[in-house]
Amino acid sequence: NVNDLRCSGCGVAIQTESPEKLGYAPAAALNKDPLLCQRCFRIKNYNEISSVTPNQDDFLKILSGIGGKEALVVHIVDLFDFEGSLIAGLHRFVGQNPVLLVVNKVDLLPKAINVNRILNWVQKQAKDHGVRTSEVVLCSAKKNIGFDRVVEAIARHRGKKDVYVVGATNVGKSTLINRLIRDYSDLEAELTTSPFPGTTLDLVQIPLDDGRDIIDTPGIVYTHRLTELVNKRDLQTVLPDKPIKPSVFQLNEEQSLFFGAMVRFDFVQGARQSFTCYVSNAMPIHRTKLERADELYEEHKGVMLAPPSKENLDNLPPLVKHSFRIRKGAQSDVLISGLGWIAVNSDAGAQIVIHAPKGVKVAVRDSLI
Ligand code: GDP
Repeated sequence: NVNDLRCSGCGVAIQTESPEKLGYAPAAALNKDPLLCQRCFRIKNYNEISSVTPNQDDFLKILSGIGGKEALVVHIVDLFDFEGSLIAGLHRFVGQNPVLLVVNKVDLLPKAINVNRILNWVQKQAKDHGVRTSEVVLCSAKKNIGFDRVVEAIARHRGKKDVYVVGATNVGKSTLINRLIRDYSDLEAELTTSPFPGTTLDLVQIPLDDGRDIIDTPGIVYTHRLTELVNKRDLQTVLPDKPIKPSVFQLNEEQSLFFGAMVRFDFVQGARQSFTCYVSNAMPIHRTKLERADELYEEHKGVMLAPPSKENLDNLPPLVKHSFRIRKGAQSDVLISGLGWIAVNSDAGAQIVIHAPKGVKVAVRDSLI
């Protein structure tokens, strides 16, 4: 009986039905010794954490659990993928508790950007997405920008309450928490983990010097982010780590841009205009004619058009189309969650099609920059 089998790596109950859920192993692997769930198999054989941990249920249980406590909720999002990393409807779960929105990775934007403009933009976007916040703070955990503001805002909103830190994976939660531990906690005390009732997840507790704790919750995996669909090596290409140098393309209608073999941008119709790509500097962009694009993709995916490389192409969901009409005079970004965005500053309007892996969030928004 499959239900009695457990992974000899992590101990989770094995199931063969849902590859995206915890404990999945392909039926053909059941008689292997040792028996490993797919996640442990990948960690063991490829040294790679796969995105197979959507403990959505457990995650929501934890969030609801916070609603029953008096706490400050610190919600960390990634400025590079703001919409993709927001926890929609957070306040429905955390009840009356105040939410401090910490927007990380500001170092990725060009230096000349006006901070107040970004703050206003973030506040408006958060509101439009129904995310209520007591305050918004911009920072870079990695480059140590704005960290004092984060600490100061936590102190101000916390009173004597515990602090729960929530966020999606790869937003920089660990980086920020490690800084908090160094600057803020009672260094004599040890970090502890405690199982959260009714879930398979452990919470990490960081003691503060007033006897309260900062509690790190597991990062939720949002598979609508391209960053969660690629392997560790390709993640280094997709995830920017230095200030983004935007690439500007003057395109005629019926021209296309490939971002590796991950995403394709078609300028279908409109007057000649420029498109500014805010993606990781390491992401290769390839320009071609729209009429050649299908053929080029078939011939060169995984080699000239990479990442992903040939052997990893099959792990990426097939590309699906999203069509947009950019209004005349609009200043818009076409966001591809996890990849970045393409700014369109269109006097004449533009008809655009994005081909992105199935499930990846694609949307048009007011321009950030
Ligand atoms: P977690 O999954 O949310 O805990 O994220 P990590 O702290 O592991 O960070 C994910 C990735 O983002 C790592 O490659 C970090 O180096 C990077 N990162 C974290 N904070 C920042 C930041 O402020 N700026 C930039 N550019 N990268 C960051």
